[in-house]
Amino acid sequence: MEHLPFSRRNFLHQLGAATLLVPGFAMSTGLQGCGSKNDESKAESASSATTESGSARKLGIALVGLGKYSEGQLAPALEKTTNCRLAGIVTGTPEKAEKWKKKYNIPDKNIYDYKNFDQLADNPDIDIVYVVLPNSMHAEYTIRAAKAGKHVICEKPMAMNPGECQQMIDACKKANRQLSIGYRLHFEPHNQEMMRLGQKKVYGKVNQIVAENAQKQDESSPWRLGRGVGGGGPLRDVGIYCLQGAIYTKGQIPIAVTAKYHPVTDPEKFSKIEEGIDFQLYFADGTMANCKTSFNDKYNKLRAEAAKGWFELSPAYAYDGLEGKTSQGKMEIENVPQQAHQMDAFADCILKSKPTTVPGEMGMRDVQLIQAIFEAATSGTKVSTKDVLQIIDSTAA
Ligand code: NAD
Repeated sequence: MEHLPFSRRNFLHQLGAATLLVPGFAMSTGLQGCGSKNDESKAESASSATTESGSARKLGIALVGLGKYSEGQLAPALEKTTNCRLAGIVTGTPEKAEKWKKKYNIPDKNIYDYKNFDQLADNPDIDIVYVVLPNSMHAEYTIRAAKAGKHVICEKPMAMNPGECQQMIDACKKANRQLSIGYRLHFEPHNQEMMRLGQKKVYGKVNQIVAENAQKQDESSPWRLGRGVGGGGPLRDVGIYCLQGAIYTKGQIPIAVTAKYHPVTDPEKFSKIEEGIDFQLYFADGTMANCKTSFNDKYNKLRAEAAKGWFELSPAYAYDGLEGKTSQGKMEIENVPQQAHQMDAFADCILKSKPTTVPGEMGMRDVQLIQAIFEAATSGTKVSTKDVLQIIDSTAA
């Protein structure tokens, strides 16, 4: 970093574990605010406000959208966190509000719907708004949360296109609030081991990556099949983990992509979205990642072939039960409550005024890559991705 001009070197220092690769990036990201003095005072006020509200410095999180992920994973995970707590909910369904209020002892004043959402601005119990809505609604609610003065966790994929991502980043920057993406696997030790083995070249240069993630998608979330508010499809929903896994294992961002849609075997179900898609990521050192994703199959793997061995996870992206192997044997790693670690890490960033390792810029990078993959599949051409945001989580390395 010594050759870098001062402003950028300072910026990289502030970024900490999230490594930034390309000159000229710093000023356009808005991330520099995350560790700045300005932010420090905001963070202090956030934490003292929380203390005053009697929550022993635990930051209050409001879940927005009480669907399967909030109900099945995030709310139970919040009971395992040490830095945060479930303080509020936002729902358009009064019966859900009643059920959650009783189950989690949430006071009426911390229960919102989508119309009075912006009144969160007046509620010091809520430090962080966690957007767990269908993908096409992420941008609107992240921006409204930032305008209400709240830090934001936004679920993946960050938004529908890079333009929306930029607006979300800008809104959080303007409000001097942190924005992170719900990338739970960055806080999961098997995946962190893949980062370490790959990025540190423990088995030599990683020559090839295989990343595959598919599920049989049912009708329980119509938007996942492109209906209603839309924003679904396997690439955005589960293929994004392949993209992520390939990048954090290789420690590089692809310079180009190719892709091909799977044949449609169920035209009724897959009339609005792709049934599946194969995509290839090309890295600057001449190596590749072969990725595939589908809503009509079942696989779950992240594998790296390196010069002196191999290492892999299967399943790689599940909430629990992850297993890892290397060419030298089994990875002896415990599974952890991923979402609790993820939310605790973000709360820690806010309390200590540190940048998150999974910021909005990383979400935007992935949305840029998803856009390029769709373009490659539609055009049948190789699409350059040299201009995507250059940000990598190097925490584990
Ligand atoms: P879901 O369909 O079960 O829940 C969506 C929620 O949004 C529902 O409570 C629904 O009532 C609410 N909603 C509000 N307005 C809506 C509208 N106009 N149309 C449809 N729903 C509306 O979905 P989910 O599985 O909970 O996923 C929500 C988000 O969480 C998605 O962005 C998804 O990608 C993400 N997610 C992330 C993970 C992860 O591991 N990080 C896992 C699952 C889901």
